[in-house]
Amino acid sequence: MAAEIIVDVTKTFPGRTSIRASFRYPVESSTVLILFGPSGSGKTTILRSVAGLEWPEEGTIQFVSRTWLDTASRITVPPQDRHIGYMAQDYALFPNYSVAGNIAYGLGDLTPAGRTARVQEMVELFHLTGLEEARPRELSGGQQQRVALARAVAPRPQLLLLDEPLSALDAPTRAQLRGELRGLLKQLSLPSIIVTHDWAEALTLGDVMAVMHEGTILQVGTPQEVFSRPANADVARVVGVETVVQGTLVDVREGLATVRVGDMSLTAVAAGNISSDVFVCIRAEDVTLEPAGAGLTSARNHLQGTVGAVASLGALARVTIDCGFPLVAVITRSALTELGLTIGTAVRASFKAGSVHLIPRR
Ligand code: ADP
Ligand code: MG
Repeated sequence: MAAEIIVDVTKTFPGRTSIRASFRYPVESSTVLILFGPSGSGKTTILRSVAGLEWPEEGTIQFVSRTWLDTASRITVPPQDRHIGYMAQDYALFPNYSVAGNIAYGLGDLTPAGRTARVQEMVELFHLTGLEEARPRELSGGQQQRVALARAVAPRPQLLLLDEPLSALDAPTRAQLRGELRGLLKQLSLPSIIVTHDWAEALTLGDVMAVMHEGTILQVGTPQEVFSRPANADVARVVGVETVVQGTLVDVREGLATVRVGDMSLTAVAAGNISSDVFVCIRAEDVTLEPAGAGLTSARNHLQGTVGAVASLGALARVTIDCGFPLVAVITRSALTELGLTIGTAVRASFKAGSVHLIPRR
C-alpha cells in the first residue's frame, strides 16, 4: 500500500450544515496539502478532526497503516497517540513559559539532556537564538509564529497540521515568512496539512490543494490547476484568481519586472525578492477587454488575442482569451454584448502592472 492519508468524515455541530470532507493524498514525499476556503467553510474543523481534537460523528481517518478513526468499528485513537504536530491559528503559546519552556512542552518522553539538546536544535533552526528566556508577550508576531512552529515540530511528529500559520502577521512579515516556511517544510521533510484562505500562500506552499466551501470539498488538484482551471463557478468564486501560468523573470528595473510567458512579455510591479521561475497570477476581474483596434489605455500590459471560450456566471461572463497563453477575464453580460464577443472574435486584453502577481515557483 502506498503511504497515504485517507480522510472521509462528517462532523455536524448542532443547528449547522454538516461539514464533510473526503480526500486522500500520498505522505511519503513530504507532500504539503492545502485546505483552502473562506472563513466558516469548515477547514479548522477538518484539521482538528485529523488531530483528534474534534470527533466526527461518522467516518474514517487513516494514516499510512494505522486507523485513527473508524466510527463503524468504534476505533478512536486519542490525539497524543497520533504523533502529530498541531499549530492553532492564534498559536496558543503558554504566556508564562519562556520560549525554551514552550518548545520543551511536548518533549516529556526525552531525558533532561535530550530535551535540552532538542530545544537548542529548534532554537537554531527557527532563528530564535538569544530569545530562549523571553516570554511570548515580549516577542514580535513573526517570532511568536516561529516559537509556535518550533513547539509543533520539536517532538518530531509524523504529520504537521498548521491552521492559518501566517494570518496573524502583517503583510510584509507574512510575505517574508511564506518563503521561509516553504524552505523549512522541505528541510524538515514532514508531510503537512496547511489551512489557509490566502492564495499566494497556497501557491507558495502547496503541492496539492483542496478547496472547501460551505462544509464541502469542491475540487482537489495542484494549486496552479485549481486556480487556473476551477472546476465550476463556485470554485472560481471561492479561489478568485483565474490566470496562473508559469513564467520566467527577465529583468527588474525601476520597480518594474519584465516576465516572459511563452512568447509574450509582461510587466509586473516588482515586490520583494523574486526568483527567476515564477507563477504569474492575474485576477480575472483585473483584466479589461477592448475592441482589437481601440486606442491604448494607461495600463502597462496590452495583449492581442482571440476569444477562446465564454461561460455565463449570471450577470457576469467569464471570457478566456487566447493570447499566447489562456488569459481569463470576468466582465458584465452587457459588456459582452457591446463588444460582440463570441468564439474567435479578435479582442485586446489590458491590465495594469500592479495586477500581475509574481509567486516564486519551486
Ligand atoms: P473555517 O476554519 O473554515 O473558518 P470552521 O471549521 O471553524 O471553519 O467552522 C465551520 C462551521 O462550523 C462554522 O459555521 C462554525 O460556526 C461552526 N463551528 C465550528 N466550531 C464549532 C463549535 N465548537 N460549535 C459550534 N459550531 C462550530
Ligand atoms: Mg478556521
